[in-house]
Amino acid sequence: MWIALAALATVGAQVVPQNAHCVVYTDSCGQLLDTLPVCQDFNRQVCNRPACKFIHLSDGNVEVIENRVTVCRDAVKGACMRPQCKYYHIPVALPPAPLMAIASSATP
Ligand SMILES: [Zn+2]
Ligand SMILES: [Zn+2]
Repeated sequence: MWIALAALATVGAQVVPQNAHCVVYTDSCGQLLDTLPVCQDFNRQVCNRPACKFIHLSDGNVEVIENRVTVCRDAVKGACMRPQCKYYHIPVALPPAPLMAIASSATP
């Protein structure tokens, strides 16, 4: 129990949703997706899938357009300076491949 609490504390104010590791953040090529679908059941507080692959959005600052959130690419790179970012911050560590793709596409 103490370990679980400590793990939550390390991510700061953002609590990692239970299903965060089940959400698909990349396409079949390992490229980070621009937008991610929001779980409609979670919005109605009726989602009981621990392995739900849609975003469980608890941050009211994040902008939702047509039931999708826009991924914050700055946060993926660990460089988002916005105090109340309207883009979605992925709460889990991504596999290295999409990070490499972002890094290479950011440089000319
Ligand atoms: Zn869900
Ligand atoms: Zn951000």
